[in-house]
Amino acid sequence: MRVWGALVLALLAGLAAVVLRPRAPRTEAEARARLLQGKPAPGDLNVVLVTIDTLRADRLGCYGFAGIETPEIDRLAREGVLFERVTTAVPLTLPAHASIFTGLLPPHHGVRDNGGFFLDASKTTLAERLRGAGYATGAFVGAWVLESKWGLARGFDTYADKFDLSKYRVISLGTVQKKGDEVMDGALAWLETVRKRKFFAWVHLYDPHTPYDPPEPYRSRHPGEPYLGEVAYTDHVVGRLLDWLRNGGLMERTLVVLTADHGESLGEHGEATHGFFIYGSTTQVPLIVRTPWGHRGRNRSPVASVDIFPTVLDLVGVAPEGAIDGRSLVRAVMDRAVEVGHASYVETYFPRYHFGWQHLRGLRDGVHQFVEAPRPELYDLEKDPGETTNVYKAYRRRAEELSGTSSTPRPCSAWRPWATSAARWRWTPGRSFRTPRTRSASISSWTWPREPPGRTGSRTPSRRCARSSPRIPRSSTRISPWGIGWSRPHARTRRSRSSSGSWP
Ligand SMILES: [Zn+2]
Repeated sequence: MRVWGALVLALLAGLAAVVLRPRAPRTEAEARARLLQGKPAPGDLNVVLVTIDTLRADRLGCYGFAGIETPEIDRLAREGVLFERVTTAVPLTLPAHASIFTGLLPPHHGVRDNGGFFLDASKTTLAERLRGAGYATGAFVGAWVLESKWGLARGFDTYADKFDLSKYRVISLGTVQKKGDEVMDGALAWLETVRKRKFFAWVHLYDPHTPYDPPEPYRSRHPGEPYLGEVAYTDHVVGRLLDWLRNGGLMERTLVVLTADHGESLGEHGEATHGFFIYGSTTQVPLIVRTPWGHRGRNRSPVASVDIFPTVLDLVGVAPEGAIDGRSLVRAVMDRAVEVGHASYVETYFPRYHFGWQHLRGLRDGVHQFVEAPRPELYDLEKDPGETTNVYKAYRRRAEELSGTSSTPRPCSAWRPWATSAARWRWTPGRSFRTPRTRSASISSWTWPREPPGRTGSRTPSRRCARSSPRIPRSSTRISPWGIGWSRPHARTRRSRSSSGSWP
């Protein structure tokens, strides 16, 4: 009898949990209206955005990696919403940050590579929107590649990007950097000056980027794995910021967003660092959103870095404006069961601009990764998360059987470096490229972002930018576009097996 009573009670408790659970907002407008009833009000929140350079999601404890201790980021994840499948737009620092800050994909914001491109003034940035909403805005960047001249400084009252070049034998976009603690010292000093105002702080930590040189005790804790040592050290630096917010009583009126610009291949697919390929090792990044309203959980929807811009605006009650590529994740933050996933576009023009090889474009959803390459590649992410088996041919045959057509999707061009035109890029997989599993929700519905006709971005250097380049302090200093250890390969093979190198 007692057993039955307990069962009935458990059943009732379960039923009550279902019935009393607040219904997930059906639309973004409904989500915004609901947030307005919260305390503090969205319009009263500070915003802190942390971007960690070169941080693979799957090297963090909160993403299931056992070989590292990242207690600070793990705690933030427990206190907030963690997105498990997040794709950056480009595995390169400046273009990826341009996407985070504008909600636009590279074909639309025009920044296709580090250096040589800048974010032009026609693109509205997150900092501009927040300053317009009354925020004090400050940016603290750890790498030269994000210097103000490339366009990301617009909207910031303070943009801390001064680097001591005298200590470098070779100056390159990839190697000039500040240690995380130095970046954080500047950020915390500025935050002290604005703590009584509403503020937006962007902190960029570059340490996991090459060259890997973790300080103690993180080096000793990860013998032979200096990348992990750098990640663990960066976690400690993030902890300083979170402690400052907690100790000052600011955590409960601050929106904290932590993400990365791209990952690091660490030898996978024959790539040592990042920028050359668009596999998950370099395109899958962490995304944690902590609101002061107690939203928690993990969301498995496939989302993208371009979604950060509209999501932050929604969460702080700033109205969206203009057409962007990103979609607001506000509903997914409020309810982890909400599916907002979509296929994410990813590209890299690094091979084209630096080596004259075919650039790569891809689309990724929760099920597949497609790479538009001279030999197209398709990976089944559920069976093959490491993207080691190209199933493109098998799927294409099946797709033709299903669709009853012999037409095949053509890659945008054969391998013809430098001979591509915008018109060729308007291929939509659509009809002939359906997957057997889900016709409607998977790659059959993928579309490419449209390229602007006749150009591939906002090229620099303009005269203005050239003039504002940092003064090189010593005549013996050499500027290398490839960083230390890179040399231009002599053979034109599509895959680089180089084991050294450094680029942002
Ligand atoms: Zn980067």
